[in-house]
Amino acid sequence: MNTAELRVDLGRLRRNVRAVRARMAPAEVLVVIKDDAYAQGVEPIVDAALDAGAVWFGGIDLASSLRAKAEAGDRARVLAWMTVSEEEAEAGIRGGLELGVGDISYLERIARAARSAGVVAPVHLKIDTGLHRNGVRPEAWAEFCAAARGWERESRIRVTGIWSHIAEASDDEDDVSRAVFDDAVDAARAAGLDPDVRHLAASAASWHRPEFRYDLVRVGAFCFGVRSEDGPDLPGIAPVSSLVARVTGVVDAGVRIGIGAVDGLPSTLGGRVSVSTPAGPRELLRVDPFEAFVAAWPGAALDDEVVIFGSGASGEPTPTDLGEAIGTVGEEPLLRISPLVPRAYL
Ligand SMILES: *Cc1c(COP(=O)(O)O)cnc(C)c1O
Repeated sequence: MNTAELRVDLGRLRRNVRAVRARMAPAEVLVVIKDDAYAQGVEPIVDAALDAGAVWFGGIDLASSLRAKAEAGDRARVLAWMTVSEEEAEAGIRGGLELGVGDISYLERIARAARSAGVVAPVHLKIDTGLHRNGVRPEAWAEFCAAARGWERESRIRVTGIWSHIAEASDDEDDVSRAVFDDAVDAARAAGLDPDVRHLAASAASWHRPEFRYDLVRVGAFCFGVRSEDGPDLPGIAPVSSLVARVTGVVDAGVRIGIGAVDGLPSTLGGRVSVSTPAGPRELLRVDPFEAFVAAWPGAALDDEVVIFGSGASGEPTPTDLGEAIGTVGEEPLLRISPLVPRAYL
């Protein structure tokens, strides 16, 4: 191995996806693969999730979503929800994606792109249920649905989904969002639209609150075993990836390992967490640009392995533990790992 490696346990991913699918049934699960599957590599993640029965994938960025569709082919539907240019929308439609749409000018661009591509573009209309993070406001929804129906009649688009995104910060606010969502679905049907999927919730709300599942749930964190900040461990779910670094020296300052801030290890972790060594947990003393130091243990030797994050099975922190130590979410330590750190698939 190199001086550091991100080990992605695809068996663990399959078990997580199976556990999430069992929990959400009869709702389907859209496995979120945004940002190169949270920096773990779209293609191997999609293959493993397909083995575990996944039939939906999705992401914000077009690039990850197009790769997922190319990998899955007819075995899965893939949704991309970033607002993009007409050219990019055309690439998405030609690539077989469904597009999430949260404003009327984007819908218009998609209708034009569909005409150039000579296909009917499948779209999921997004209502803003209170998060104010893109989505059509309730007062503009009826007009939006009427415009969509017009483009359906011209065979430019087909509305296959109605969706929104909620804060998942308080149950009460989420309940208000759900009521807005239900009204939006009714209004869409009244406008003559006939979506086959309604989707509102991500990991936390869909796991804990069945009434938020509708036909489809969009699950990122829990498929990858990233628990919520301050959230409980979940039965059947564990982190998929481990970040492992090799010992490159034993010096006065401690045991030197071959990963540093330039490799994506947050320098603020120094002095805040313990990592797993062959002799058990030891404090991560300091993170320098090109290397980091761990408190010494007897018999430390070159090429010993230190686990910086992982499933927790050997006493190492999980990604969420690291995030909490520096006041952020578990996705951040994962997504920060430089693409130059090799990925190994187990
Ligand atoms: C990232 C994302 C998700 C996944 O959220 P998790 O909490 O990680 O499951 C779902 N929906 C949207 C719109 C997202 O951007």
